[in-house]
Amino acid sequence: MSHLADTKGLFQNTLDAARTLDSKDPLKNYRERFFMPQHEGRDVIYFTGNSLGLQPKTTQGFLQQELNDWAKFGVEGHFLAQNPWLSYHELLTDKMAKIVGALPEETIMMNQLTVNLHLLMVSFYRPTKSRYKILCEAKAFPSDQYALQSQIKFHGYAIADALVEVSPREGEYHLREEDILKAIDENKDALALVMLGGVNYFTGQVFDMKSITEAGHKAGAIVGFDLAHAAGNVKLELHHWQVDFAAWCSYKYLNSGPGGVAGAFVHQAHLTITDLPLFAGWWGHDKKTRFLMDSTFVPMQSAERWQLSNAPVLSMAACRASLAIFDEVGMDALTKKSELLVAYLEMIVEDINAQKNNCLQIITPKTNRGCQLSIVANGYGKALYNKLIDNGVIPDWREPNVIRCAAIPLYNTFEDMYRFGEILKKLL
Ligand SMILES: *Cc1c(COP(=O)(O)O)cnc(C)c1O
Repeated sequence: MSHLADTKGLFQNTLDAARTLDSKDPLKNYRERFFMPQHEGRDVIYFTGNSLGLQPKTTQGFLQQELNDWAKFGVEGHFLAQNPWLSYHELLTDKMAKIVGALPEETIMMNQLTVNLHLLMVSFYRPTKSRYKILCEAKAFPSDQYALQSQIKFHGYAIADALVEVSPREGEYHLREEDILKAIDENKDALALVMLGGVNYFTGQVFDMKSITEAGHKAGAIVGFDLAHAAGNVKLELHHWQVDFAAWCSYKYLNSGPGGVAGAFVHQAHLTITDLPLFAGWWGHDKKTRFLMDSTFVPMQSAERWQLSNAPVLSMAACRASLAIFDEVGMDALTKKSELLVAYLEMIVEDINAQKNNCLQIITPKTNRGCQLSIVANGYGKALYNKLIDNGVIPDWREPNVIRCAAIPLYNTFEDMYRFGEILKKLL
């Protein structure tokens, strides 16, 4: 992190230092490109871009274009719209693929995240009598837990037997890499699927997806990731890492708006297997002959095969506005700022902590993290969170005792971090 060293002298908990860091930030102009919610006449300190990303100012224009074409053309907009709706999803593919390190043919925007997890497990969780276990992280996001449990039940296995959950060690918050790899190895004879969050939503820990994928494959299992907290937050190389499948939402780091269209990835190696089991719909049928309306399903040779329905154009239009910004900035510049911003936030929290009897504990690892810091405020609980809200800070609260702060490189500033520190100091 040479860029960290360059700015080390500026890593001070002062307004001047924060403003100097902002002035040197190559991405400083991007904040202006988003609508920032207000609190008592000034910008809030928005720390929840990991939950719902902010609205780019260009989103309305992308949506308006489709509304106009709908008004003008009605059904003929499928062909005559400026961006014909028939192939609208294709407009998102290349940019999305770049963000997750995938080939375009491996990437598809469709449905919602949990729906995509299920659709992909239909193809990639194929339990047999001897190989039926799924390995996941303990306390995964609830929707993922329900999805895994219901898949296991659906196939007639017992959850207690088939679901292997890897937990942090006693007294620790995050998982040790070696413990994940050991659990994979210990279950190698019965393991059908390894399915983890690429970034843990609670602690912000980034897993080593490459080595987990290698270990899973060595054990004879399929490896999939839920990238809800990874896509648009950390650098991903899904294709090179040989990940089998992945799914993510786009309304968190990818700013597509509430309930925005989700993404899915299927590795190229699986795309040529035409008889892979799947739940099919007409949009997964070969485009060239889709409208012959034949009764025999002819699968697309790309991740488009998993599409069921025609594209949700309005939701995708909103997503395009944000993907255009990501494309302009690129994940290299984004993660470079992200590392710096979160390290600055960490320094400020630690500085205040030292003044306040160490009542705070950052449970996010120092390395292997994206832009989120999860903070336990010992002895304060949810009251502290409520007071932060009253003071114009919007973090989020995760039971039982964690405040999550995401320092989003596109629209958070170093001054935000400083101001947050001052408010925190006042409240503790
Ligand atoms: C946000 C999130 C979800 C949400 O699922 P939806 O289907 O988009 O409602 C699921 N899993 C993880 C890990 C998440 O972070």
